[in-house]
Amino acid sequence: MWPVKFPKSCILNIETMNPDLFEKVVSLCKRRGFVYPSSELYGGLSGFWDFGPLGVELKNNLKAAWWGRVVHGREDVVGLDSAIIYNPKVWEKSGHTKFMTDLLVECKNCHQRFREDHVKGECPNCKGKEFTDPRPFNVMFKTYVGPVESDEGLAYLRPETAQGIFINFESIVNTTRLKLPFGIAQIGKAFRNEITTGNFIFRSREFEQAELEWFCQPKEADKWFKYWQKERIEWYSELGMKKENLKFREHEDKERAHYAVTAFDIEYQFPWGWGELEGIANRSDYDLKAHGLKYRDEEAGEELVPFVVEPSVGIERSAFAFLLDAYHEEPGAKSQESRVVLKLHPKLAPYKVAVFPLVANKPELMKEARSIYELLTKNYQLGPVAWDDRGNIGKRYYSQDEIGTPWCVTVDYQTLEDRTVTVRDRDTTKQERIAVGSLLSYFSGKLS
Ligand code: ATP
Repeated sequence: MWPVKFPKSCILNIETMNPDLFEKVVSLCKRRGFVYPSSELYGGLSGFWDFGPLGVELKNNLKAAWWGRVVHGREDVVGLDSAIIYNPKVWEKSGHTKFMTDLLVECKNCHQRFREDHVKGECPNCKGKEFTDPRPFNVMFKTYVGPVESDEGLAYLRPETAQGIFINFESIVNTTRLKLPFGIAQIGKAFRNEITTGNFIFRSREFEQAELEWFCQPKEADKWFKYWQKERIEWYSELGMKKENLKFREHEDKERAHYAVTAFDIEYQFPWGWGELEGIANRSDYDLKAHGLKYRDEEAGEELVPFVVEPSVGIERSAFAFLLDAYHEEPGAKSQESRVVLKLHPKLAPYKVAVFPLVANKPELMKEARSIYELLTKNYQLGPVAWDDRGNIGKRYYSQDEIGTPWCVTVDYQTLEDRTVTVRDRDTTKQERIAVGSLLSYFSGKLS
């Protein structure tokens, strides 16, 4: 079993930061098209990021891996895709208009504003020691629905996806006839006007959450809480995250959200220290009661307000953790340069396969390589397939290693004779010869 109790860690502890790893991964993300600062053309906008051709694949793969294990891989969870903007009464009833606040302090020296719990006695910007008194700041973004900007049209961008699940609870129970315990899952955008953003995509103002609301008998909530702790940590391990970089930390009384009776974070060892990756909360019957909702089991003649256990993870934050975890630098063999390898789990890798002609100036090799590329591309189950015919093979391998492509297929002269290709493995760099006709089953076997 995993350790479950740890002391509070510091989220923005600059002292322990390993700037090297952080800088290297951030620069790789931009250079290779994982993440760009949003609106960069106009100077950017703090807390907003765009995900490039590789980033969108990584995020989609992560979401599919989460949905696969949490929804498709079981019979007791169904999915939902609710709107982002709800009737503002939702947020009044749920307590978010009152409690979705962070304590804000301002440094008296440089006048920058921070979340109080991110300031450890010293201004992270100028090291000043004096701050204004903390005051609550509601992090929900406001907007107006309809053509008039008046209080009547006031609405909020959701700061969590969970409320969409609660307000659809009755409809889902009625249409699916689910019996306790069961879960409703949702992946979607959430928005928080964070006082301070930072650490790259770790804390942004627009992000995606993958949330499961698990409804159960109140007396069974503790049992299910432990179950979901275990289940969620196994998900990270299954996708190759290093166990030593993960731990649980229990929330202290004062940091628990207004709806939670128990809360643990799954923390990841980021370059600057341990930080929250995922929250697991026992939300009790708080939300269903707040919305006046009940569960009725006609057959059993039972009526009750279930308890809710909620694992909730940020997609961008976990994508960042997977990227950091996967980043390796390895010395090359004699006379070869060292290589950067993203050892991402093949299920997460943006490209699973790259195809190269050994040399680009031989039309017969190009033709054969193109036909193999098309064969693999048309089988879209593999996701996008990379093509590269520039430079030498060594450079192409290194270029794919850096973005985590697990397998590179090279079409050479032998291919023209016996219809086999070399398949080179990213992690071992070993090569084997595979018949072109078996390539699809070879890769799908590896990915299953
Ligand atoms: P924090 O203490 O870091 O502000 P939180 O406890 O408010 O986070 P939760 O409300 O538990 O976060 O949200 C669940 C998950 O959503 C977090 O574990 C994180 O992965 C993600 N998340 C929350 N806020 C952000 C954000 N501003 N940017 C990116 N991801 C976020």
